[in-house]
Amino acid sequence: MAARLAEEWFAICGGCEVTILDIGEPLIDVLKQIQIVHMPVLMDHKLFGQTGEGTKMEVPEADVGLIAGGIRNEENKELALEMRKKCKILISLGSCACFGGIPALANQYSKEEMLEKVYRDSVTTEKNGLPHEQIPALTDRVYALHEVVKVDAFLPGCPTTPEMVTAALLAVIEGKPLPALAAKSVCDECPTRREKKAAGGGVRGHLDPPEFKFGAPLTEMRCLMEQGILCLGPATRAGCGGSDGNPRCIRAYMPCEGCFGPLSDKANPMVDMMGALSSIGLDPKQIPDRAATFNRFAGSGRLRPMPKR
Ligand code: SF4
Ligand code: SF4
Ligand code: SF4
Repeated sequence: MAARLAEEWFAICGGCEVTILDIGEPLIDVLKQIQIVHMPVLMDHKLFGQTGEGTKMEVPEADVGLIAGGIRNEENKELALEMRKKCKILISLGSCACFGGIPALANQYSKEEMLEKVYRDSVTTEKNGLPHEQIPALTDRVYALHEVVKVDAFLPGCPTTPEMVTAALLAVIEGKPLPALAAKSVCDECPTRREKKAAGGGVRGHLDPPEFKFGAPLTEMRCLMEQGILCLGPATRAGCGGSDGNPRCIRAYMPCEGCFGPLSDKANPMVDMMGALSSIGLDPKQIPDRAATFNRFAGSGRLRPMPKR
C-alpha cells in the first residue's frame, strides 16, 4: 500500500517545496509509492472543510508529514499540533523548520519593533494602522518546529537537498530508519587546499571572486577563508554534498553561508566562527553584525532582541 504523505508550509519562501520537484526523474518512482493526502502548494485541500463547513482545523491522517517553515503565528502553532496528531512520522523540511531559517533573523527585534519597522517606519511605507482583522496573531518570536512539537527527522538546508528528501521518503516507504544528520562539518568534506593561515589582506568582500583557475580541480583552490572570503564551513554541519560529496556552494566556488545549521543543538556558531577566524590570523571584528551573520539560518533559539542603545 502506498505511504500517505501530508505536507504543510509555515513561515517560508517555498524553496523547499521546489526541492521536491528538483528530485527530478527519481520522483516518478517515488510518486508511485506515495499518496499525497494534503499539500496546499499542490492541491486545493482546505483546513476547515472544502466549503468552510468545519469548526476546527483538520488534516487527514498520514504515514509521514513534512513541514517546511518556522512557527511565526498562532495558526502555524495550531497546525503544527494537528500535523503531529495526524502524522505517524513528522519531518522538518529545510532550515526554516529546523532552526527558524531566514525569518528567524527577525528574532533580533521584539514583535512590536518588527511590526513598527515593517508597517510604519520603512521609507517606502505610508504610516498607517497595523493589520489586525482576520489574520492570526503573531507569536512572540519565530520558533523552530521541534520547539513546539516532537520531530522525528530533520532535513536541513536552504533549501534542503533533493537527495535528502528522496532518502527520507524512501526510508518511510520501505519502513527503514530515517537518515541521521552528518556528524562532521562542511570543512571536513571540503576538498580545498589549506595552509592553516590567512593569505594576508584581511577579510574581503563576501562576493569577491576567489583566486583560482576556473575549471581546475577544487583541490587546487586554496581554502576560501584563508583567501579572506568569509566562509561558515567550520561551524556548519556537513551533508549538502551531491554525488561527488563536495559541499554544494564550494563546488560553485562560493563560500558556505551556514545553511545546514550549527554542528549540534548546543553549538554556538558565533563562538566557533570567531575561533576559526582568529586561528588563521583574521580579525573577527572585521565582520559587521556578527550575531546575525553567524546565525543566519539558526536564529530560532539563538537570536534575541538586542538591548536598546
Ligand atoms: S529553508 Fe530556505 S528555501 Fe527552504 S523555505 Fe526556508 S528560506 Fe525557503
Ligand atoms: S573554510 Fe570554507 S573553503 Fe575553507 S575548508 Fe572550510 S568549507 Fe572549505
Ligand atoms: S556549502 Fe554551506 S551554505 Fe552551501 S549548501 Fe552547503 S551548508 Fe549550505
